[in-house]
Amino acid sequence: MKKNKRSAIYPGTFDPITYGHIDILERAADVFDEVIIAISKQSSKSTLFTLDERVALVEKVISQKKFGCPVRIKMFSGLLVNFARSERVKTLVRGLRAISDFEYEFQMALMNRHQASDIETVFLMPDEKYVYLSSSMVREVARLNGNLKAFLPPPVLEALRQRFGH
Ligand code: ADP
Repeated sequence: MKKNKRSAIYPGTFDPITYGHIDILERAADVFDEVIIAISKQSSKSTLFTLDERVALVEKVISQKKFGCPVRIKMFSGLLVNFARSERVKTLVRGLRAISDFEYEFQMALMNRHQASDIETVFLMPDEKYVYLSSSMVREVARLNGNLKAFLPPPVLEALRQRFGH
């Protein structure tokens, strides 16, 4: 047993989980000893899938894969740094896509540091094929019955098909 287990929290809305999220998760799992996927509660009005649906999809998709370390799933609300403290985790993982992510992620990382200077954010870059992939784009294309096979695991494709009645 390692003395200082390196844990990380990978937070997000996961509305829904995509291969881009999974790409980052796989990379994080190769770097850390444990990764906690922290699914943000947010109001159900602003998400396509409810919290329970988002959690169920993440659970299903994660259970079908092998990762470099144990991966746990938790829900959180309120300040992320408070959740991190309650889990005694000092590292946050975020994915960095094209330049468009940069300003928002930079602001958020610095604001989180302002709230909790002992908690560090690290950024991981996905495979190029997922650099322009986002859950919001997926929701839009799914609504219009577009082809998303390259971007979404089968349970998510099915959930979207049902949601939009295609
Ligand atoms: P949030 O509302 O917190 O941005 P998301 O579920 O949209 O939640 O994203 C969670 C994290 O996953 C963010 O760090 C985001 O940059 C990252 N992410 C989402 N899609 C991708 C992708 N295609 N490639 C790399 N990172 C991604």
